Amino acid sequence: MAGLVTGESIVNPDQKLQGAGIKVITGKAVSIDVNTKKVYLDDGTEIPYDKLIMGTGASPIIPPMEGHDLKGVLTLRSLSDAETIKHFLEDKKLKKLAFIGAGFITLEVAALLKAAKPDYYDIHVIELLSHPLPMMMDKDLAVLLQEYLVEKGMEMNMGAKVEKILGQDGTVTGVELSTGEIIAADMVFLNVGARANTELAKDIGLEIGRFGIRVNKFLETSNPDILAAGDCVEKEDFITKKPVPGQLRGPAVIQGRLAAKRLAGYKIEFPGVLNAWACKLFDKVLSGTGLTEEQALQADIETVSAVVDSRSKHGMIPGVKPWTIKLIFDKDSRKLIGGQIISDAVSPAKEIDAVSALILGGKTIEDLTTFMTAGNPDSSSEPSMEPITIAAEQALQKLRT
Ligand SMILES: Cc1cc2nc3c(=O)[nH]c(=O)nc-3n(C[C@H](O)[C@H](O)[C@H](O)COP(=O)(O)OP(=O)(O)OC[C@H]3O[C@@H](n4cnc5c(N)ncnc54)[C@H](O)[C@@H]3O)c2cc1C
Repeated sequence: MAGLVTGESIVNPDQKLQGAGIKVITGKAVSIDVNTKKVYLDDGTEIPYDKLIMGTGASPIIPPMEGHDLKGVLTLRSLSDAETIKHFLEDKKLKKLAFIGAGFITLEVAALLKAAKPDYYDIHVIELLSHPLPMMMDKDLAVLLQEYLVEKGMEMNMGAKVEKILGQDGTVTGVELSTGEIIAADMVFLNVGARANTELAKDIGLEIGRFGIRVNKFLETSNPDILAAGDCVEKEDFITKKPVPGQLRGPAVIQGRLAAKRLAGYKIEFPGVLNAWACKLFDKVLSGTGLTEEQALQADIETVSAVVDSRSKHGMIPGVKPWTIKLIFDKDSRKLIGGQIISDAVSPAKEIDAVSALILGGKTIEDLTTFMTAGNPDSSSEPSMEPITIAAEQALQKLRT
């Protein structure tokens, strides 16, 4: 959409898979016969299987809101959706764009368009909850992001409910908020979450949970010959052990590999998800893992947290960029349960992977006070400003008082 990559460059060429002894068939699977063990495609092709792995992904949730089917109400899931949005914007020379929801996909699209034509697009983001990235970031960090997006010229309407989408002659003209306020729009981008594609699985009687196909730790479904992986599968949260959608590429890739390993005879368990994520909005890079403090409190986990500012390089090196990390600990067990980063450079945001590893390892506040990182003046702050240990020191102090 921003002209950074071509469609071809983001799709793994089929030939690469065929070279690995994999036959790629393009078509829609419309039914499965579990007795004869065959998958049927929409053109009538039959594909026999000994074992089947389902990876049907997820589809955008379209809320049953008045006006959702008007021309110009667009959503993004696939490459063809991206092409539709691109052509729609270009063909119609649209200017006023409203985005419903402030999740990471929505904000990435909005920021890419604004960055491409800062003086052209009027961008208005409307979010029901009180801050951007509400399922991924706590308010204390998210407000920094919100201020930044406003500086970049985006209208951020947080804590506002879209009541209906307005149109004329079948084409969108704006949105109406529950307060009666009307926001004019030539295009409305509607991305408020995704639902697992479970129709095929339901048709053959597989067990389905609240968020997708139910699988065990080895990705096996309730049918012994069928495994499932990725966005279509319900996951378990690593910390709360509760079911979650976990619709991110990390779990999809690892579950795909584990399912294949299972068929090859391995017995490696899927550990559950931390929902580690990252996104880039203009020049800010954001990332997070584990529970937010808001989610922890909802799960009845009492928390202690610390927010620490750091920098991407030693203060004496030119080009130093600021970044901020928040770490969240379970007050009772003192274990690390979450982290979020907002950074002006890419590399500090990737430190979230260290936070994930520390959570998976069950590390506590005390453990983190002795966490030693690789240091180099050009790629990390002064040793005394390493923020993971400082956050742990602050949490330690908070628990003393
Ligand atoms: C715009 C966008 C940006 C994203 N960015 C990030 C990101 O930065 N980081 C991140 O972690 N995650 C991101 N995600 C989420 C990530 O893309 C998904 O979690 C991941 O692709 C899931 O992989 P999957 O293989 O389970 O499903 P998918 O990648 O959705 O693949 C499922 C495939 O199954 C096909 N299919 C479905 N039903 C049938 C059928 N009956 N017959 C044949 N084929 C069928 C679908 O057409 C699709 O190609 C993003 C998602 C979107 C939409």
